[in-house]
Amino acid sequence: MTIVLKDAFWNRYTELIRNEMIPYQWDVLHDQADIFIDKERDDAAIPSEKSHAIENFNIAAGNKEGNHYGWLFQDSDVYKWLESAANSYALHPDDKLLSMIDEVVSLIEDAQEEDGYLSTYYQIEAPELRFRRLFESHELYCAGHLIEAAVAHYKATGSKRLIKVSEKFVECIQASFGPEKGKVNGADGHQEIELALIKLYEVTGNTDYVDLSKWFLEIRGTDPHFYSKQLEENKDRGLNQGHIPHINTAYHQAHKPIYEQEEAVGHAVRLVYIAATMAEVAAIHQDEKLFKTAQRLWENIITKRFYITGAIGSTVHGEAFTFDYDLPNDTMYCETCASIGLLFFAQAMLKNKIDVEYAEVMERTLYNTIISGMALDGKHFFYVNPLEVNPLASSSDPGKSHVKATRPSWFGCACCPPNIARTLTSLNKYVSTSYENNLYLHLFMDVEGTVKVGGQSIDLSQKVNMKEQGVVEITIKNVKEPLTIYLRLPSWGDNFHITGKYSGPVINENGYVSIEVTEDTQFRLTFDMPVLMHQAHPLVRDNRGKVAIQRGPFVYCLEEEDNGEDLHLLSLTERPVVTEMSDHSLGDYVGLKAKGKRAIIDDSWNNQLYQALGKESKEETFEEVDLNFIPYHLWANRSKGEMMVWLKTDNIEY
Ligand SMILES: [Zn+2]
Repeated sequence: MTIVLKDAFWNRYTELIRNEMIPYQWDVLHDQADIFIDKERDDAAIPSEKSHAIENFNIAAGNKEGNHYGWLFQDSDVYKWLESAANSYALHPDDKLLSMIDEVVSLIEDAQEEDGYLSTYYQIEAPELRFRRLFESHELYCAGHLIEAAVAHYKATGSKRLIKVSEKFVECIQASFGPEKGKVNGADGHQEIELALIKLYEVTGNTDYVDLSKWFLEIRGTDPHFYSKQLEENKDRGLNQGHIPHINTAYHQAHKPIYEQEEAVGHAVRLVYIAATMAEVAAIHQDEKLFKTAQRLWENIITKRFYITGAIGSTVHGEAFTFDYDLPNDTMYCETCASIGLLFFAQAMLKNKIDVEYAEVMERTLYNTIISGMALDGKHFFYVNPLEVNPLASSSDPGKSHVKATRPSWFGCACCPPNIARTLTSLNKYVSTSYENNLYLHLFMDVEGTVKVGGQSIDLSQKVNMKEQGVVEITIKNVKEPLTIYLRLPSWGDNFHITGKYSGPVINENGYVSIEVTEDTQFRLTFDMPVLMHQAHPLVRDNRGKVAIQRGPFVYCLEEEDNGEDLHLLSLTERPVVTEMSDHSLGDYVGLKAKGKRAIIDDSWNNQLYQALGKESKEETFEEVDLNFIPYHLWANRSKGEMMVWLKTDNIEY
């Protein structure tokens, strides 16, 4: 399948990645950039002086002397850069980028041990602890990112150099892990190898990689004490490993076997990475039990632990899920990587079952949280994507030190920026899926190219306009056998019509309309895009009496720049309407406007903090104001200020 994104909205991001982010990250990884490395929260343990990631490889390769610096998983920054660079090269081949890629590939080859092992921290600092501190070592997590980079590199360049490095590393892993005596009978503390092995299988056809992935899925949690037993064993052997911490196994989803896990718990990125793998393996093996397990986790997330912006992870403590309906707007975590993982999970679920909910979640994550993670200059990034921000709280409340009001240029833990880059440079794979003679079009992006449907390859063009009205124009050529095209009818659309050869009533079949195609053809789907005011389930405590605004795939927010300070004094008094906007710093976007009111702080308050109602205090007074909304993903691209997604409503006719 070779469909190519031709979408102006998304290409703005892929161009930023190509022209700004990839060269910028290259400089960061090589410690050349003059940048301030921010900490994602106040924590003395977070490395923030420099990246040192390339230097670590040079030391491991024997090119230089020195110590490892950075996180145990610092290597993954290099692999994720490589994956994005390879994806970007596939979109725009250029010699300079290729020579940068080649340089990194050679360095990785040089750093790999004879037996295939590769983890610069353990190679440089603690070879005796190889695979012996799996709760935190990230060795297989990094192996996973190496493999994903290798697959992208192979697809972009046709070179198998990194595939060879990956397969050699996998041989080392196969020789080291398993139930046999003397082998390690457990999984890495951070899931990722599981997902990567599926990708390696997809390009090599080697089913051993699927088996190993499934083994890692199933061994997790079978012995909840596995990680602490490893540490005790190290102690008994007299290995110098530093302190032995208490391990919260639920954080790693290792508290019980996966088949017994009913709820999404623990570190959000880890959870969605493993759930995505369950769905991938289920699709390959037609494994109903595994799919049911994935479905259970999906259901728990989407119905109870999911933000309207497509984000997950309600607390900074453990960057984790908490409990049902706990969705605080200003202390949450909502890591960009977690939404990217949820995108992977949704896409993997679609491989098992066509359900419009998966497509809608992919869209919600992409158009809101994932792109909110990157500034419009391509050089500043959010790790945490809040739904409400007060810059004073971020700077003065230690409990909100992780909630930034502006995007920092780089992080000590730089997982999110390169994760955005590798995802947005490979968006074409999320647009459609095909099953037998059916082609499903899930996302409204401009694409062109060839798609395999059943036994034939057809030429597909999808052109989309989502400004005044939704218009999706489909052109199909090179049709040799009949096929059925399923076009998504988005839940946020209304009044659907099809014009062209297939004009007729639009029948909604589980969120899609089907069109039987027997020859080359062209048709268009049109629909209205009303402004929607969402309310949250009554058990979401933070959102009682509030609404969140959405139009099309975009959730909207209020910013201080357009609405003044103290956003919490505002309430909405009418349904917002569309205002076409163009801002020199935000580019073209559809803005929304509405009447609202602002509570007036009158003189009766004087210097008091509280007043008894009905005594000195009068009824609260308000002034009428205009409220101006921008799409959520554009926030924090102008002045530093407050931001709010959920706002109070008053006397609105719905
Ligand atoms: Zn991240």
